[in-house]
Amino acid sequence: IALMLGPVYQRMGRLDDAEKLYLDAFHAQEKAKGANSPELSLYIKLLAGIYEAQGRRTEAQALNEHMRALFRDAFGAQRYAANRIRDRRLDVDRPVSQQFPLRADYAPTDLVRAAAYSIPLSKNADVEEMRIRLAAEADENPEEENLPARLAQLMSLCRGESGERISLRSGYRSFATQKDLYARNLDRGTVTPPGISEHQLGLAADIDVESRLMRHSDKTYQCFEENAFRFGFILSYPPGNDYLPGKDTYEPWHWRYVGIRTAQLYREVGPNNRPQEFLAALPCYEERARSSTAGEDVCLEEPKIVAAAAEAARSGKIVEHEAGASAHKLNNAPRGGQR
Ligand SMILES: [Zn+2]
Repeated sequence: IALMLGPVYQRMGRLDDAEKLYLDAFHAQEKAKGANSPELSLYIKLLAGIYEAQGRRTEAQALNEHMRALFRDAFGAQRYAANRIRDRRLDVDRPVSQQFPLRADYAPTDLVRAAAYSIPLSKNADVEEMRIRLAAEADENPEEENLPARLAQLMSLCRGESGERISLRSGYRSFATQKDLYARNLDRGTVTPPGISEHQLGLAADIDVESRLMRHSDKTYQCFEENAFRFGFILSYPPGNDYLPGKDTYEPWHWRYVGIRTAQLYREVGPNNRPQEFLAALPCYEERARSSTAGEDVCLEEPKIVAAAAEAARSGKIVEHEAGASAHKLNNAPRGGQR
């Protein structure tokens, strides 16, 4: 209930009520899971956001420090190596959005059938959408079964906690598939243009609860919000994002694999509900975590620079899907989960 009502209270300016909700949820989880459980980090993050909005800087900073200590204890001190100079275009943790589009010829080479990993499916196991990437890290064996194994674990955990029926509705979608969907659905405005969908990465998972898209009022959603980061997943289209065209782009069913270290870092020091900016400035946040810098988030300046550089690189050759993306502002019709 905290995750459902909290954001509503925040939008209404009822910060005291939101604070009370988050505090109650924090204490309930503390009692259930123990004071050092990383799952508490969700409520620490939410409370810090409230305190910042209220101008209670000292308290927000104290919570952020508490978060840092909790993560150091839980996950070790030397987690993040600087990778500022590497080309990250093919990485598991690259951003994708209107600001950071994928090329039409981007296609992952490590796709596997989700059915082979005991992941419950919403569709026929043989269709393209029921495939996902292995997603090995750069320093790992490329056969490492990171994403499928961890998605199966996360879904199993949350099925147990929620008692709800959970299944994978959509994983990989190629540029061609997305383009086709977009062409067929254009007038109804329910589909993301090709090139800006994380499904082209093969790293996104749309999750069904009881055979329809997950909602923020589902128990499964609370379980994902609390635990997904421990399995390498983040909510990559949060409330109020401008990553996709259209007005209502919040997608509580859409979970993006970024790897465990990156998902932990996002929870620990990332900006609230700005995952694509975080991914664009990832090396900056890695340094921030290692140097224990508190105070103003200087990393948030970097995505603008990265996006501008990418735009400049593309400007000589505007490809079809990019022109299409800017030309068609989608309306706010009911969505079919084809983002
Ligand atoms: Zn999706």
